[in-house]
Amino acid sequence: MLRVEDLTVETTGKTIIKDLTLEVPKGETHVLFGPNGSGKSTLIKTILGFSNYKVVKGRIYFKEKDITDMPINERVKLGMGVVFQSPPALRGVKLKDILNSFLGQSRDGLENLIRALSLKHEFLDRDLNVDFSGGEVKLSEMLQLFAQRPDFALIDEPDSGVDVENLERIGKVLNNYLAESTGILITHTGYILRYLNVSKGHVIINGTIACSGNPLSILTQILHEGYGWCEKCLLMGKRELHERIAGR
Ligand code: ADP
Ligand code: MG
Repeated sequence: MLRVEDLTVETTGKTIIKDLTLEVPKGETHVLFGPNGSGKSTLIKTILGFSNYKVVKGRIYFKEKDITDMPINERVKLGMGVVFQSPPALRGVKLKDILNSFLGQSRDGLENLIRALSLKHEFLDRDLNVDFSGGEVKLSEMLQLFAQRPDFALIDEPDSGVDVENLERIGKVLNNYLAESTGILITHTGYILRYLNVSKGHVIINGTIACSGNPLSILTQILHEGYGWCEKCLLMGKRELHERIAGR
């Protein structure tokens, strides 16, 4: 459904993504790991079409269409949706206004979701992200994702700044969601993976994919040896590394 081919991306004259190739077939969600500043969020924003990220090489295909030069609103119309790492606060825009704009009259499922996330209805009356706690920001992003149900979801660090109870709630509802969706999920810490069934993971180092394979095997390796191990692997050559991890 999504194919990123040999992508190089610059912002303010600096190369952030380099020669990155990634393919996500329909029905799969791929996990991206990587240290802070490795380019994970930049990749998501480039796939979405943020104009300050300039594609200097490579192409992005979505549903077999070349979307590399397509404006962001058209990509959203084609079926892309996003959960931001740090979404902006919007004074005067209530969470329920956003949810209603996605849902229209059909609110089936929303009540169940509000219960599953242990949210109070007053929460929907608050201005979007204004004085929300870290956990509330992510819970609100989850509600929006479920309301929108995009064909392809770009989910950036759903576990950052979330306490243990909320992590479990978010993890469980997200796992139900992923069972019927396609997309990319970023996790820096890997905590959310405790709750998710995902088929494939990739480590991004310095804007390129250092290795790919079973996400839990990758996470175990990172927890034992840190991302320094991935940097070494990158130097050793991608192919050998890919086989090492995928074969575990
Ligand atoms: P990650 O999500 O993996 O932590 P990011 O993709 O957010 O990393 O950032 C990768 C690098 O690109 C960082 O060094 C960051 O400072 C830089 N970067 C990202 N966006 C911009 C921007 N708009 N202007 C300048 N530098 C940026
Ligand atoms: Mg990020």
